[in-house]
Amino acid sequence: MLQVCHLTLYAPRRRITPVWRVGLEVRRGDRTAVVGESGGGKTSLAWASVGYPVPGQTVVEGSVRFEGVDLLALSRERRADLYYRRLALVPQNVQDTFHPTQPLWKSVGEVLRKEGGRRLGRQEILEHVEPLGAPMGLLASHWDARPHELSGGQKQRMGLVQAMVNDPHLLILDEPTHALDELNRARFIRFLDRWTSERGVGVLLCTHDLGLAAAWADRILVLYRGCKVEELPAGPMVRPLHPYTRALLDSAVRLGDAPGSRSAVRGHALPLEGEPVGCGYADRCAEAVDLCGREAPPLVEAGRQRVWCHCAVGRVKPFNNQEQIESKGEERCR
Ligand code: SF4
Repeated sequence: MLQVCHLTLYAPRRRITPVWRVGLEVRRGDRTAVVGESGGGKTSLAWASVGYPVPGQTVVEGSVRFEGVDLLALSRERRADLYYRRLALVPQNVQDTFHPTQPLWKSVGEVLRKEGGRRLGRQEILEHVEPLGAPMGLLASHWDARPHELSGGQKQRMGLVQAMVNDPHLLILDEPTHALDELNRARFIRFLDRWTSERGVGVLLCTHDLGLAAAWADRILVLYRGCKVEELPAGPMVRPLHPYTRALLDSAVRLGDAPGSRSAVRGHALPLEGEPVGCGYADRCAEAVDLCGREAPPLVEAGRQRVWCHCAVGRVKPFNNQEQIESKGEERCR
């Protein structure tokens, strides 16, 4: 359904490469998560995956195909026609995207059209949006409110309803739970689970919340400074092979953790300028060897796990001698 290959984005004014040669695939019913720290390229990847690179960024290499259509080659009109009907993105700041003086039913319902392009009236819109909002804790009265009358979390859920209301085949969610409290986060996850399973909707979930990704997704892609460094199936038995994925996992807060008991990943991820030289994580990695700063890490495959690291083979062997390990050398499309 969605195929991204070799995608490289460049921001000329800042002279940085927010995404470098990233590939991914989402089919109907798939749940794929992209994880990484802030500034790692998740938002840039999410927007480019619907054919709208973030302002100030351009696609310099690669392709984005959705249901066989090259999204980057489509005219604005044809791309807008697909948007919301067959694929939809819920941006991180969705709560700031509604018209400030319009009631929410009107803003959210703008994406609904009758055949022939006719707009729907209030009652018709409410019939579509209320059943989607109610399981996420939205009340009927919320739809008549103006944006300033609702909390950030309520508006974020309205944004999710707006993305779902046309029954798209693919949903791209950028940090969908960041404005939600624990109760509404749980409601949202439960509803998304049921709604996507019933319809076979594919989801690309971009989040820094590794706990959410591990609990909800089937497959996890780890992005660091715009490069994919590991791809692994989600689940409790899977052990990350890349030092960055392990650091992310160690820093993830779990239920029952004492406040402040988890430490952030050490150091800072600086944006990538041009092409990476050696491993982009070398300056933060406690396991780096001389080679890491000079040569691009090779792709190592271990079963359904793929990792780009010079030392990955040595990490697989101690815990599973039966694993099929294959080092494939450098691969351009990640
Ligand atoms: S390639 Fe080297 S620096 Fe990069 S993650 Fe692996 S061990 Fe660390």
